[in-house]
Amino acid sequence: MRIENLRNIAIIAHVDHGKTTMVDKLLRATDAFRANQQVQERVLDSNDQERERGITILAKNISIEYKGVKINVIDTPGHADFGGEVERVLRMADGALLLVDAFEGPMPQTRFVLRHAIDTGLKIMIVINKIDRPGAEPERAYNDCLDLMADLGATDEQLEFAMEHVIFASAVNGFARLHPSDETMDMYPLLDMILDDMPAPDADPDAPLAMQCVTVDHSNFVGRIGIGRVWSGTIHAGDTLLVVKNDGSTQTAPVKQLFTFDYLGRTECNSVSAGDIAAVVGIEGTDIGDVYTDPASPVDLDPIEIDPPTLSIV
Ligand code: GDP
Repeated sequence: MRIENLRNIAIIAHVDHGKTTMVDKLLRATDAFRANQQVQERVLDSNDQERERGITILAKNISIEYKGVKINVIDTPGHADFGGEVERVLRMADGALLLVDAFEGPMPQTRFVLRHAIDTGLKIMIVINKIDRPGAEPERAYNDCLDLMADLGATDEQLEFAMEHVIFASAVNGFARLHPSDETMDMYPLLDMILDDMPAPDADPDAPLAMQCVTVDHSNFVGRIGIGRVWSGTIHAGDTLLVVKNDGSTQTAPVKQLFTFDYLGRTECNSVSAGDIAAVVGIEGTDIGDVYTDPASPVDLDPIEIDPPTLSIV
């Protein structure tokens, strides 16, 4: 079933093209939308809150809420990939925003992550940022993005989607437009486009649990923290999990603490359902690729198998 009140979106951007600013402005816009909520100073690369709470979870995911829909914003490492991190992280997403500076156009790092997003089959929206910059050429940057996607082997469907889904933005000024010369002075066109046309996850919260760990964080207080998307079923704090390792060996482990992402970063919760992203505390020695499932009804894991990590240098 479609989880209509959820979206999982990755942001792909070259360093300095405005990812942090964009996410900050989206948070502010949705905070304002929720009305009377105090606007939080919150940027992707701040982890002070976790530090205060003794949980140093560094993965840079956050989520925003807009018109009753939770949008998980999945940060992708912008650098060359060691151990297949980009591929794994992108698998948590159903769609991606390709964020590109209107003056500079797509850059080498954009190319690297974009290739993975295309291969993962994600729907890709193009966001041309910094259209306020003197000398910016938004249309040209946009065409360069389409050419690059074609070069990297995007399918006709992906290209068509990208042609129909482009936003021209100035994150620093907090606006997003359907055409560079529009008058819009807010971020809502981008948020509406995400809600309307990015796919909702297709998953069954009542099926047996299947979650795969794609990122591991470590805290001196709680040990290893396994982060990943719940593919089916629902994970609860207090559950006992069957953990299936990459080599096929298994162990059982308790869910001591469970976290979900929200606009403040990470929040402890009682359950996380299929389609959403969870952080699990309590699985000693958990590794990337581990599958968490229900000992009473372990799921067939083939569809979410992850290739052994590879070393790729671009
Ligand atoms: P990140 O490395 O992709 O996270 O980029 P940041 O969000 O940190 O932005 C890099 C620089 O670009 C900062 O100095 C921002 O203020 C600036 N910036 C971000 N968005 C815009 C924009 O829309 N227009 C202009 N002129 N500058 C921007």
